[in-house]
Amino acid sequence: MRAFDAGEPDGRNATLAAPISPDGSARAGERYRIPPREGRAVRVPAGAVLVIENTHGAQVCDFWAFDAADPGCFLSLEHTRPSIGHVIPQAGDTLVDNRREPLIDFLTDTSPGVHDTLVAACDHPRYVKLGAKGYHDNCQDNLRLALLAIGLRAREVPSPFNLWMNTPAGPDGRISWLPPVSKPGDVVRLKALRDLVAVMSACPQDMLPINAMNPEEVHFWIEP
Ligand SMILES: [Zn+2]
Repeated sequence: MRAFDAGEPDGRNATLAAPISPDGSARAGERYRIPPREGRAVRVPAGAVLVIENTHGAQVCDFWAFDAADPGCFLSLEHTRPSIGHVIPQAGDTLVDNRREPLIDFLTDTSPGVHDTLVAACDHPRYVKLGAKGYHDNCQDNLRLALLAIGLRAREVPSPFNLWMNTPAGPDGRISWLPPVSKPGDVVRLKALRDLVAVMSACPQDMLPINAMNPEEVHFWIEP
């Protein structure tokens, strides 16, 4: 059996050929589009603020961040949850890496604050188990492809910060799969505390209602 390579996509989509620039550097103030079902990587210099916009309001955006100087060091929600003392990060929280060091200041959230940190990014096997025939776009491949598009390779696929994903665990521990409660134009503002490579995926989930059954575009920019 071939060894599993976390950096190798299970399939391809347009993400691979559409980086925002050859090395992922952004022009500050320029608004970048992530088309429905695709992903993009962006370099966020230390001290810069990344803004991610839920353009149409009912779209989940999977988010990852890697230390640009040490890609084995990345945003870790399982380390962040005990650090902040709650399951869902809120504006005012500092998100930490897998060495428990501060990585991102979560500055602003204009949405009601419903996000997910429990669920792995969707992947091709997930869609096969849901009944998909053939290849289905997925957030894990969007991460891999967005990194390959700027000359990097995922060593692993960390658990994402699933922005606007409304999949609460109820009192009995059961997870519900619900549409987002965010509204068009809601943003989160995230300040990089080190030079980062951030990756976002406009989640292509259309077999569960988490994107209101209609995957849409999202936008992002680096504040000037
Ligand atoms: Zn997804």
